Amino acid sequence: MKQKKIPLSLQIFLALGLGIAVGMAFTGNPTFAVSYIKPFGTIFLNLLKFVVVPIVFFSILSGIISMSDIRKVGSIGVKTLVYYTCTTAGAIVLAMFLANLFKGFFTVIDPTGVTFEPGETASFMDTLVDIFPSNIIAPFANASMLQVIVAALLFGFGILAAGEKGRPAAALVDSLTEVCMKVMDIILRLSPIGVFCLILPVVAENGPQILGNLGLVLLCAYIGYFLHAVIVYSATVKALGGVSPLAFFKGMFPAMAMAFSSASSVGTLPLNLECTERLGARRDIASFVLPLGATINMDGTAIYQGVCAVFIATCYGVDLTLGQMITIVLTATLASIGTAGVPGSGVVMLTMVLESVNLPVAGIGLVIGVDRIFDMGRTTVNITGDAACALVVSNLEKKAEARRAARRPRAGPQPKTSAARNKFRAALTVLFTEDRSAHAEGVPHVAVKIGHRVLGLSVLADLKVEMGPCCHAGLPHGTDHLPGPDGVALLHRKVPALAI
Ligand code: ASP
Repeated sequence: MKQKKIPLSLQIFLALGLGIAVGMAFTGNPTFAVSYIKPFGTIFLNLLKFVVVPIVFFSILSGIISMSDIRKVGSIGVKTLVYYTCTTAGAIVLAMFLANLFKGFFTVIDPTGVTFEPGETASFMDTLVDIFPSNIIAPFANASMLQVIVAALLFGFGILAAGEKGRPAAALVDSLTEVCMKVMDIILRLSPIGVFCLILPVVAENGPQILGNLGLVLLCAYIGYFLHAVIVYSATVKALGGVSPLAFFKGMFPAMAMAFSSASSVGTLPLNLECTERLGARRDIASFVLPLGATINMDGTAIYQGVCAVFIATCYGVDLTLGQMITIVLTATLASIGTAGVPGSGVVMLTMVLESVNLPVAGIGLVIGVDRIFDMGRTTVNITGDAACALVVSNLEKKAEARRAARRPRAGPQPKTSAARNKFRAALTVLFTEDRSAHAEGVPHVAVKIGHRVLGLSVLADLKVEMGPCCHAGLPHGTDHLPGPDGVALLHRKVPALAI
């Protein structure tokens, strides 16, 4: 009898529950969990980080090549940045509102004697300079995501600009992208074990007693995370992404569980790519939007920074003015952009937020003990926001393409009679069966899949041919949109029998 396979998402869910339950049993004595279970979680995270840089580099590159138009990359970039900035600003406004509601109930801790050694925080200009790599190896060796993205953009544009001579490079990128995806698949199969080994020691080390006086501050942050995800992401994926919120959260569950247990946006990136693609995001768009988001889009981190800033101010007896709150909104938005997608980096940027309103940085010592618990929630929100953006941008691009296609003039030869239509159908079959990697779903809607790319043809009732975004080895380089007449002309060239 054939055994039924448990879906990966369910496996991850079970692993998360089991990890929490077993972790509880270890709370009295976490040494075993920390010494012998945590290292396996670390191995899993290392593997993810190992694959993430080539995945980001090659998938952005192949995304640009298949877009084949620098302007299109620009338009996707602008949409992405607008979405990221607006949602992050919304997140921090929500956090300030909630923190002010909760303020009266927070247990005030005496900050005397509390210390915190702030790490290095780079200035805005230094961060800007740092985005641009000075040599080809550094971005990859240091896994510096923004630099990897810049390198991928430059090489992508270079390959497009090289035209005919760039084609072998484009084919190589395509093949390497596929190989990286396979490597990622293999690693992702280990996710349930990874999630179990990551969450267990966290629960064992941070038993319920750690929450202590910070229970309400954590609750406030978690309500913020929850409301932001449910309101903002549900609304945007529904209204702009064309996906139902329920399907969105269900599809995102594996990535969210991974983010929760690893507290690393970058480590979650491979799984996030897989989840968003399954939800319908275009691969070229997801592979550009998600790595960028894992580096600069941190809605959860912004919420955490807002709540902690208000809590720390309360402990120091400072009543924040409206002006100071607005300053916090602005700096937390910027600080979250500068936060790296790795565990614990949100704390470093909290320094910047506190300094902006002259609150003592030592106050971070009040919340640092439970940072991991804040971090698990904020990372989950961070990656969910990236995924929502990938779906929104994919859908907006799809609509923009449909509008552009509708505006194109449709002159030229068009089959009118049913005899011509039949001939055309026959020719289409010939065309697609000749191309062994392709498969036709019949007329009037034909989808041809070549590797992982889809060449979309919809043959309208009057048999004008429209071609959607495509990347096909047989198409002239750089043609990603072929309006009706060109499409017909192309088919003529490939199948001379198609004299319509
Ligand atoms: N751990 C978070 C992330 O990876 C960043 C943070 O510390 O806020 O998204």
